[in-house]
Amino acid sequence: MIPPGSVLGVLGGGQLGRMTALSAARLGYKSHVFCQAPDEPAAQVAAAVTCAAFDDAAALAGFAAAVDVITLEFENVPAAPLLALDTPTPIRPSPNILEVTQDRLHEKDFVARHGIATAPYAEVGSAAALAAALDRIGRPAILKTRRLGYDGKGQVRIDDQAPAEAWAALGASSAILEGWVDFTSEVSVIVARGLDGAMASYVPVENEHEHGILRRTLAPAGLAPAVAAAATRTAETLATALDVIGLLAVEMFVTRSGEVLVNELAPRPHNSGHWTLDACGVDQFEQLVRAVCGLPLGDPSRHNDAEMTNLLGDEVDDWPALLSEPGARLHLYGKAEARKGRKMGHVTRVTPLRE
Ligand code: AMP
Repeated sequence: MIPPGSVLGVLGGGQLGRMTALSAARLGYKSHVFCQAPDEPAAQVAAAVTCAAFDDAAALAGFAAAVDVITLEFENVPAAPLLALDTPTPIRPSPNILEVTQDRLHEKDFVARHGIATAPYAEVGSAAALAAALDRIGRPAILKTRRLGYDGKGQVRIDDQAPAEAWAALGASSAILEGWVDFTSEVSVIVARGLDGAMASYVPVENEHEHGILRRTLAPAGLAPAVAAAATRTAETLATALDVIGLLAVEMFVTRSGEVLVNELAPRPHNSGHWTLDACGVDQFEQLVRAVCGLPLGDPSRHNDAEMTNLLGDEVDDWPALLSEPGARLHLYGKAEARKGRKMGHVTRVTPLRE
């Protein structure tokens, strides 16, 4: 058990780290953030900051020695330097999990191995392999880079393009082809899993994306009870199979027939869980702190329904109006430059529970 007063090490300096550090502070922990620049969102609210590359072994060793437990807010932290780190400081979740979730092919294979459905998929390493995979999977389909894709980047939808054209458009050397899912909704479940294997799941939520970026989350998702239960069961099965200590966010498609297909896993706080800050007694960030520090998990139930909207780019300029809107809770990430599509903050609108 890592008691309040200890130092939580956070790999990554973005808004997820910022909100983790703020929740950690509420429980009396200090945060030490490992990031690239001193003005990153999490660094602004941390007690200590290390600015270095994620593969700087000496900097990682110094960071590990300065903190009591290490967690992450950015799942593309390279796994190898963490696995090579010779330190008694626990890293939670384990970097072994990153090796699964950083590669879309390993991730889908892992999910399938545990008997959980995904879209049909195939490994693709050339235009010829893409042609063969398209023959098997059919069109439309979606070609994704295996690594380092996020927010819809590194993806090409294939309708009637020639395989060579789609392969060139992706511009990667290793990819995965997925059948296009004609979903009725996209949902996610965030599950916290503690040192003792206990789990606490937030209600499934519905996510609306625009250009591959999350725009809005509705909590709860409007799912039939059996579908909601299947989504939760899927997330908990995967958290146990991965032996996650911390959080696992599972993004899923719900098909017309009510089937739940796993799209993506993230072993960290997730944008679709920001609503928990304003509508749950214990939010996802505090839950992460509790899990990695070996504290009992909190109650994930909600006291309100909620709708979370991301503020992208210059939408953040609406802050004065949002501040005066009844029922709206504004969260800003302290980013100086409002580039197009950049997540600058979010607003949560809470409403009374419907059920
Ligand atoms: P991803 O980066 O895999 O989360 O994909 C970003 C978004 O693209 C998803 O949230 C979906 O809206 C869409 N998408 C990804 N994969 C598929 C698929 N196989 N079928 C239909 N839509 C998809």
